[in-house]
Amino acid sequence: MNRSLVTGDGKKNYRRVDPDYKHKVYGLHNADTLRFCYQCGTCTANCPLSQLIDVYRPNKIIELARLGIRNASQSNSFLLCSACSQCTKGCPQGVKVHELMHALKELAAGDENAQNYLLGGFEDALTALSREMPFPISYCWICLNPPADGAGVIADAATQASAAQAGAEVASAEADTDMFNKLARDVLYRALDRIENNDRISDKEGAAKIAVIGSGPAGLTAAWELNKAGYAVTVFEPLPEAGGMFTVGIPTYRLPNDIVASEVEKIIKQGVEIRTNTPVDKVMFSDFLSGEEFKAVFIATGAHLARKLRIEGENLKGAVFALDFLRGFNLGEINSIGNKVVVIGGGNVGIDAARTALRCGAETVQMFCLESRDEMPSHEWEIQEAVAEGVLVNPSWGPKTILGDGEKVTGVEFIRCKSVFDESGRFSPVFDEKSRQVVEADTVITAIGQSPALDFLREMVETERGAISVDPLTMRTNLPGVFAGGDTVGGTASLIEAIVAGKTAAGSIIRYVEGNES
Ligand SMILES: Cc1cc2nc3c(=O)[nH]c(=O)nc-3n(C[C@H](O)[C@H](O)[C@H](O)COP(=O)(O)OP(=O)(O)OC[C@H]3O[C@@H](n4cnc5c(N)ncnc54)[C@H](O)[C@@H]3O)c2cc1C
Ligand code: SF4
Ligand code: SF4
Repeated sequence: MNRSLVTGDGKKNYRRVDPDYKHKVYGLHNADTLRFCYQCGTCTANCPLSQLIDVYRPNKIIELARLGIRNASQSNSFLLCSACSQCTKGCPQGVKVHELMHALKELAAGDENAQNYLLGGFEDALTALSREMPFPISYCWICLNPPADGAGVIADAATQASAAQAGAEVASAEADTDMFNKLARDVLYRALDRIENNDRISDKEGAAKIAVIGSGPAGLTAAWELNKAGYAVTVFEPLPEAGGMFTVGIPTYRLPNDIVASEVEKIIKQGVEIRTNTPVDKVMFSDFLSGEEFKAVFIATGAHLARKLRIEGENLKGAVFALDFLRGFNLGEINSIGNKVVVIGGGNVGIDAARTALRCGAETVQMFCLESRDEMPSHEWEIQEAVAEGVLVNPSWGPKTILGDGEKVTGVEFIRCKSVFDESGRFSPVFDEKSRQVVEADTVITAIGQSPALDFLREMVETERGAISVDPLTMRTNLPGVFAGGDTVGGTASLIEAIVAGKTAAGSIIRYVEGNES
């Protein structure tokens, strides 16, 4: 291996303005918006990753890129941006910060010296991250734009076999990026053995026991943090495997299951008890509230209720929800799907479902969404990867009816969507009833959003628009000793936001059980 890959020897060349680099930066998609940045710092203030690692400052990276200084793309933690887009949402100047981060990563990936420098710094960044979260490898694996073969360096054999069997046309992303990602994944894979979570303090004498409901990124981060501080934590999880969307949402070709399993195992080894196959129901929740066994509860049940289209034909055989399909695929229960697949929804979950359908052997996969191509909610690069693999993307169409033969799906009738949002930006689709098309299909996968399932709370915990209400600074709910965070609070968001919510809640729970709450 190139020695500078580990030592980061390329560093010295990267501290000056480089006209060539500047030229390349301004050639990136959306780079013209850089000119409007006035360094207010809002992107950094809004960035959940910055809350975990204070050296990570998107505004600084933006400034260096704007000036054309190469080490813009070589901050130690640069590779850790997960494209959650909180930075972009807060920018008063409309700078597309998260898209620029992604583009800068790609630019660096094509520069051999930057590769060396970045990967050298990446080891340090990983170590720093591992002090703040229990899933540094899984998280970073997702942050890297996957190589087009999606397999990474250690993709599980089953995934590769099914992709090959499906004959999925796996197009090549840029060779440089591909190579860079492979090298980065190699660093990650080695770190899987290197990084141990062994800084737990011993059990606190007579320490309170704490219940965590849900074993996703939010729940396990809180459990890990509380356990490190000496508390006994029990995590309850209905599924046979822990990890939440890390395990059952994000497809295995993007994040191999064995990586998540290995990190979950470390959490268990540290001392967290995880009870899988154990959903918390109304009775159990009432018991938790009695305070007899647990002194505090953290609710982190995510958003697993699929939104329905509410159109005719949704109950036909062959009409499925993206989350059910992805869960079945990830748990190894589903390895085939129909031949003619239609995916409804233009978000990232729809993209994952479409690409997974290809890997399950579908002959054609077509995505349809209300939004125009520019308005599609998924990341641009994910759309491009899906298209490169053979997914046909059909923007500006809304489903009218799922057609069937009385038993099974046979197709979908679509009508043209003229606009999705009204003048004030509210969702208010307008259709052109005269413009219609019927698309043949034997499978329809609906991916139009998810919401939290909150029945077990017995309406005792306050909610707002279908999600749990919390004080965002402490994650406290209206009930004393009951905290909540992650997707169950805000609807489907991102891994980094869920992880930060878990950490914040853990801090508040410790203050609560120790009687230090202000
Ligand atoms: C297909 C897909 C792809 C995604 N890709 C990305 C990505 O690339 N990058 C990114 O940043 N984010 C991505 N996300 C979003 C990210 O996965 C979520 O924001 C994150 O997992 C939320 O974490 P959480 O812990 O709040 O919830 P979850 O991960 O959903 O975990 C909640 C857990 O609670 C359990 N649970 C539910 N009900 C109960 C109950 N009654 N009792 C006990 N346990 C219960 C669930 O089984 C689950 O294990 C993706 C999401 C999906 C669906
Ligand atoms: S929020 Fe926008 S204007 Fe402010 S520093 Fe970040 S990119 Fe610049
Ligand atoms: S996309 Fe998310 S992680 Fe990346 S800089 Fe923006 S806020 Fe931070």
